[in-house]
Amino acid sequence: MTSIKNYTINDVVQYLNFIGIKVPVSLKKYLHNTAKKEIYVRSHMSINLQNFYCHNFQVTNSMIRYANIDYLENILSWIKKYAKNCLQSYKYSNLSVKINLIKKVNLDLKLTDYLDMILQGIPNFRKKFYKMKKKGFIDLEKYYGKPNEGFSIYISELDSTFISLSFSDDLTVDNLVDLAHELGHAFYNESFKPQYFNLPNIVKSEQYAYENEIRIIKKIDMKSSLKESYCLNYLLQLFLYSAYLSFMLKLMRVQNDIEYVEVVKLFVECFEDYVPLKRKLSSSNIENDLIDSIENNKFDEFNFYYVMARFQVLQNNYAFFKKYVSNL
Ligand SMILES: [Zn+2]
Repeated sequence: MTSIKNYTINDVVQYLNFIGIKVPVSLKKYLHNTAKKEIYVRSHMSINLQNFYCHNFQVTNSMIRYANIDYLENILSWIKKYAKNCLQSYKYSNLSVKINLIKKVNLDLKLTDYLDMILQGIPNFRKKFYKMKKKGFIDLEKYYGKPNEGFSIYISELDSTFISLSFSDDLTVDNLVDLAHELGHAFYNESFKPQYFNLPNIVKSEQYAYENEIRIIKKIDMKSSLKESYCLNYLLQLFLYSAYLSFMLKLMRVQNDIEYVEVVKLFVECFEDYVPLKRKLSSSNIENDLIDSIENNKFDEFNFYYVMARFQVLQNNYAFFKKYVSNL
């Protein structure tokens, strides 16, 4: 994950406090200032169906302005083909066993080994990283109240990045991937010192994060079944984001005069296109899925950033993916 705008120190302190992350001493003196409210709104608002349509309309419109609809549709049709080739040969149960491998397997390495491995390829960044760490900006420890989801926020006033991840002692391959991802964002910030995060910058920052994940997975000495697991995870996420993105685009075309049953139908269609796995699709299941996804803000602009970035990085590393997922 990445930040959607540049944050001031004040914003960051308020935000960290709000989501339950310990504020580093070096930032504590800013605690009493009041923050702008809107930075919380995006991540914590739960949207009801009515303003969901409006929100969705704005988001899809701004995406289309940036990428244009033909380009988006073209990317999505490629992804649909990949999804069909990739997933149709797997039984759902087999696939989930393979996918869960990197979430379960422990490499017998310490966090410092992970960090060394990641920082090795980007020597100029190492110094900056240890500066960030000294300031308490690298928060990797698991504690009560801390969100599981990792993120990195660029604090423009300090030209530094705050990284949050929640690791227990038992480190998995997945943890290594997450660390490489967030450090990829920090490395992007360090390289470009972005003045503001517009759509192209956000997509580029995500690309850096994914490229950094793949760089590590290529480099590290581990069983090929683990590398396959990484690739399948990457692809399945791409397919899921694409299903959501395609749903948003379809909804935008028909909104205003659409019945709820039609919304559900569109939702099912998108899932069947991009995640063609045999799963139980009873109507009550689908409705719950849809409502859950709306309440958890799954239909937001992040689908767009992730699809654009993941697709590009997949193209850049096609031979690597093809090596582990032969039916891609
Ligand atoms: Zn990210």
